[in-house]
Amino acid sequence: PPAIMWFRRDLRLSDHPALLAAADSGEVLPLFVLDDRLLKPAGEPRRRFLYDCLRALDHDLGGRLHVARGDPERVLPEIAKKIEAGSVHVSADAGPYGRERDERVRKALGNIDFVRTGSPYAVTPGRVRKQDGEPYRVFTPFRTAWLDHGWRKPAQSGVDSARWMSLKGGEKIPAGKSKHHAGEEAALEAWQDFRDGVLADYDTDRDRPDRNGTSRLSAYLHWGCLHPRTLLADIRPGNETFRSELAWREFYADVLWHQPNTARENYDRKFDRFEHDTGQAARERFEAWCAGRTGYPIVDAGMRQLLAEDWMHNRVRMIVASFLVKDLHVPWWWGARHFMRHLVDGDLASNQLNWQWVAGCGTDAAPYFRIFNPVTQGEKFDAGGDYVRKYVPELRGVQGKAVHKLDKLPKDYPAPIVDHAHERRVSLDRYDAIRTT
Ligand code: FAD
Repeated sequence: PPAIMWFRRDLRLSDHPALLAAADSGEVLPLFVLDDRLLKPAGEPRRRFLYDCLRALDHDLGGRLHVARGDPERVLPEIAKKIEAGSVHVSADAGPYGRERDERVRKALGNIDFVRTGSPYAVTPGRVRKQDGEPYRVFTPFRTAWLDHGWRKPAQSGVDSARWMSLKGGEKIPAGKSKHHAGEEAALEAWQDFRDGVLADYDTDRDRPDRNGTSRLSAYLHWGCLHPRTLLADIRPGNETFRSELAWREFYADVLWHQPNTARENYDRKFDRFEHDTGQAARERFEAWCAGRTGYPIVDAGMRQLLAEDWMHNRVRMIVASFLVKDLHVPWWWGARHFMRHLVDGDLASNQLNWQWVAGCGTDAAPYFRIFNPVTQGEKFDAGGDYVRKYVPELRGVQGKAVHKLDKLPKDYPAPIVDHAHERRVSLDRYDAIRTT
């Protein structure tokens, strides 16, 4: 009987173990389900990128991608019945909603096999464990164990296009165009360009938002336009730093798999008692932060890069997140929600747990008392000021690194909304209160 290949976060045709498994059974119907429970909270940038990925996938499938809309628990059995499918194939989902949904779908399918093969990670979350079976709580030992665990080589063979089935009456892929090139071909091209160019200087340039020093692969990795296995098989022994970044992605997926509550709750429960500001004044400061109008140039440049490009450099994500939590005393989840709405690469595991890392309440977190100074961070990582000038037009007339000097900025640029030295002390006092009680 035919099989259904239900695509989710694996929107590619090459190196796709679940697809190969589906094709083993005979004819394959390629399916994507538009599920409002995932789409509604996603935010425009992520939705548009997804739709462009679906268009690219449909093109690569010769126009045969069947798109349905609704709750997968209802849609999958309906379609399976219609084509008399014997099995439904997926790449395993590791997120809290995905896992719960898949269990519902598996039950609703009754006698039809629900087959999970692979996942969007080199090692499926939940597999790397300490000798006593417990999950890792610290990154470095996780990375060692993850490397020891290893992963399969990229699959070379593809699926013969004669196997694709089509079905009438599908939904149209919603309109809307992403600011980023989407799809498998664009992902592979981005990877090859990065590998053959920027990667050689990654160790030094990755922290420099004023340079084009990172891969910009995050959205492709999120949607599986490209599998991390492909990258890991392709990098050389000298590329340890890049490999470690991929390991962080796997670590956070693993943490979320073991503790789905950390999408919303502090990983370190001691922080449940931490005092946040949530009143009207905090809301106004939060709005200023969202709009990139805090009066701290590197923070504002980052927040405006997010709005302009649906993406932000990693170093600046750390700086703006620290500023929100430790200078404005706003709960980390307000910032995380804003990121998830605006980032093209918004990813529950990477986003929530990076926020928690910055806020000091996450896994092997940056100690809470190590508070970023937004001025010296700017001077260090955007030394010539080019990054700030690119995103903050009011500061274009300020030369060189003077762009980071708060007392020398033009009048049409906002005055600092808070005093860093003072807020730093407030944060440390609040931390002391939960540390000692
Ligand atoms: P590169 O430097 O080229 O790294 C290669 C890949 O490694 C990335 O594509 C990503 O998949 C992975 N990676 C790198 N750094 C991290 C990290 N710290 N944690 C997890 N994975 C990492 N990344 C997301 O993919 N989605 C998010 O929603 C997200 N939210 C973040 C929120 C905050 C507050 C912070 C500090 C970081 C967040 N990150 C997130 C991690 C990181 O900033 C992005 O993955 C990175 O900036 C993407 O750009 P790149 O592909 O050029 O990265």
